[in-house]
Amino acid sequence: MSLRRSTAGTLAPRPPAEPPATLVEALADRASGPLADLPFLTALDASGRPVERLSAAGLDARARALAAELRATGAPGDRVVVPAMPGLDFHVGFFACLYAGMVAVPVPPLRPAARPGATVRAGRLEGICRDCSPRAVLVPTPEDAAAAGPAPAPGVAYVPVRRPGRPDAPVPGVPEPSVGPSSTALLQYTSGSTGDPRGVVVSHRNLIANQTAMRDRCEIDSGTTVVNWLPLFHDMGLCTSLVLPLVSDASVVTMEPAAFVRDPRVWLRAIEAEEDVFSAAPDFAYDLCVQRIPERERAAVDLSTWRVAANGSEPVRASTLRRFAEAFRPSFFRPEVFSPGYGLAECTLTVTFGLPLEHTTVRHFDREALAAGRAEPVGRSAAAAELVSSGPPLPGVEVDVVDPEGRRLPAGAVGEIQVRSTGNCGGYWGRPELSAEVFAARPYGPDCEPVGGESAGEESVRTGDLGFLYEGELFVTGRVKDLVIVGGQNYYPQDAEELVTSAHSAFTAQRAAAWSPDDLDGPGGPARGRGIAVAVETAERDQRVLADALRAAAVAVARAVPAPVTVYAVARNKLPRTTSGKIRRQTSGQDLGEGRIPVLAQWSGLR
Ligand code: ATP
Ligand code: MG
Repeated sequence: MSLRRSTAGTLAPRPPAEPPATLVEALADRASGPLADLPFLTALDASGRPVERLSAAGLDARARALAAELRATGAPGDRVVVPAMPGLDFHVGFFACLYAGMVAVPVPPLRPAARPGATVRAGRLEGICRDCSPRAVLVPTPEDAAAAGPAPAPGVAYVPVRRPGRPDAPVPGVPEPSVGPSSTALLQYTSGSTGDPRGVVVSHRNLIANQTAMRDRCEIDSGTTVVNWLPLFHDMGLCTSLVLPLVSDASVVTMEPAAFVRDPRVWLRAIEAEEDVFSAAPDFAYDLCVQRIPERERAAVDLSTWRVAANGSEPVRASTLRRFAEAFRPSFFRPEVFSPGYGLAECTLTVTFGLPLEHTTVRHFDREALAAGRAEPVGRSAAAAELVSSGPPLPGVEVDVVDPEGRRLPAGAVGEIQVRSTGNCGGYWGRPELSAEVFAARPYGPDCEPVGGESAGEESVRTGDLGFLYEGELFVTGRVKDLVIVGGQNYYPQDAEELVTSAHSAFTAQRAAAWSPDDLDGPGGPARGRGIAVAVETAERDQRVLADALRAAAVAVARAVPAPVTVYAVARNKLPRTTSGKIRRQTSGQDLGEGRIPVLAQWSGLR
């Protein structure tokens, strides 16, 4: 049965085409096939007006021309830094790297040079450049290259994406690079939620396998538009708006993350303007829409064309789904289009993904049993942990949940999530030991046999995330590194965060970070009795209201975690986030402890 709306004849699904072998082949095919001259990419400005359009043929021509110039700066396999740039420059730059056989390294926007000689200065960017020693750094125009000052390092060139009069011809004497499925397409730096970002080596095969599986799960085809505001230097933005459309013939409408943050209506209006929409965002973005779009304006937008509303990259909160579905009911938003998913850069992007047009599974589990490592379903109550399913594994992906020795656990048991799939990447750039630890796990069964069907014996990625399988779906409970351990039991920071944000209206739909103060001291480790701390952002400033809210929050957490509880209220946007907007829990604890985050009010000592 088709998942598609049956209103428009053009939306009938087509049988999935044979996937291309590389992204180079995928773009070249589209640029010479029946879709060649149709709009492929459209960039919107901050108010939602189209500012730039490219057909596949147009993208192909511009990418080829830039590739020829890139080849003059280095050889196939050399790294090229591709910063987030306005309009469609990132897209052109990314495909130019691939056409040149070079390795694209997506990074956040370059900061404008404030003083001569200082260009690639943002801390994260400097680290990435040191890590992968690029040959070139792309900038939008020759003026940007001039303004950037001297080369960021010896032998590194600034190459403008747009140069008037650039010859659209191969560089004489330079052979065409040979790009195959196992060639490295990009280095995807991880978000840096738990430490320094690491560069994941991603091949063409990884990207195509992972996003072809997404195409099939979501029935995406030439009738679909991917609407994107996610940062393109993060795996979710890059895969959904550059790779998924190519393997599925879909088109793309894209805008800068800042446009969404400034006015979330721009995102929703872009969805409304299309016929059949796939659009993804992390959990907080759905709450931002509820907070920032006033009730009276919601009926003015029609979200009935939104067929897949992906939610991932962070814990998915049932309360967020409820709030958004309720708030946008007048906009004809259908709650069954929510498709939570789970994934990580080490597996290209997606591991599990909800079934479109089936209601997301939200279940309640006994909190004590969960702390002891068992998922026992119970009725809905304040004492139960409410968890959202991240869906079943994508086609061709196998998920195991294992104990610390690597033994596969039965369904319903909590353990580390391990993944086997063609999307499993080649390791971390320049980190052989860490790569062997993370990318080469071999889970085994009760009789020490390697687990898995066809992929038995293949290596698994150790995700560092905890969760369990229940009726074929994955429930993610938290990260191993973020666990709060009290009396030998495991408590999940996201559970405590959810209790705090649901405890009082001053904290509703706000962001929170929980951690164990014991963990911050390093050696000695947890279980020394200082319990759990939670910081929550709020717009409230009335000290009496804050005192009430903090007390209610502390009581709720203390009911769930038998340990001393401290809750801090901080101003909005004060908790440290990654460049892709994820809360960094340990850093939040450190910054708060060392006075770098002003505290509006706090409540402590409750147990
Ligand atoms: P770093 O590895 O640098 O610390 P990161 O793990 O946040 O950062 P990404 O690869 O971008 O970097 O994010 C993947 C992680 O995001 C997962 O390992 C998991 O912890 C979290 N995540 C993704 N989807 C979900 C989900 N549905 N529920 C809970 N957590 C999720
Ligand atoms: Mg990670």
